[in-house]
Amino acid sequence: MSRMPLAFLGHGSPMNALEDNAWTREWEALGRRLPRPAAILCVSAHYETRGLFLTGNAAPRTIHDFFGFPPALHQAAYPAPGSPALAERAAALLGGRAGISDDWGLDHGAWSVLMRMYPQADVPVVQLSLDVTLPPEEQLSIGRALAPLRDEGVLLLGSGNVVHNLREIAPGKPEPFPWAAEFGEAVHELVTQGRYQALAGYEKLPGSARSVPTAEHFLPLPIVLGAAGADDRVSFLNHEFLWGSLSMTGYVLTET
Ligand code: ZN
Repeated sequence: MSRMPLAFLGHGSPMNALEDNAWTREWEALGRRLPRPAAILCVSAHYETRGLFLTGNAAPRTIHDFFGFPPALHQAAYPAPGSPALAERAAALLGGRAGISDDWGLDHGAWSVLMRMYPQADVPVVQLSLDVTLPPEEQLSIGRALAPLRDEGVLLLGSGNVVHNLREIAPGKPEPFPWAAEFGEAVHELVTQGRYQALAGYEKLPGSARSVPTAEHFLPLPIVLGAAGADDRVSFLNHEFLWGSLSMTGYVLTET
């Protein structure tokens, strides 16, 4: 089996689970374009824990971790199976750094993009939590430890946003704020040049303080890119902003 690609997607609003727009059409196209995975290991911005945990449920519940959206979104379900075997395998690769938990299911960071990529909900999904207290180098090392999964048919999928500042959103504003553009482009340069390890220094990039006021939406990016190989080719999608302070950019790494 050849090595599976890995991907990071900027998920933006939970409504992207249901809306037909340019971004969600890209996610749909990506799901059709990638080789079909045996399972997905998803790192979502919305599963934060102290210490690392993998979801061990055989049938993970759909978690509606948001407020005030239309009933259709609160009633949406993504009934993909879990994979206790993948949770065990990932925990082994992480060498005791991660436990297995039944306390979580699939949060909207995971299912809002998976609903578009794999609408049949027929690919098993395990979530790996985020521990934002770990230093950035260690976040990259988590992905590095999980890299063998790519040779086992597993799609590593990060779901967050490179720039995510909800306090400064300007609804209706399509172009980024200058600080958001500066940070987004600095990250874009590192990623498209294959300088993934340099993401460990993201806090020193221009505009980082306002673009990443809290780390949870950014960290899925260095975690999954930690699993990159030297011969991976990088491409990007949805390299645009929403409301001035949310970057929708996604990255896909594919074995050359
Ligand atoms: Zn989010």
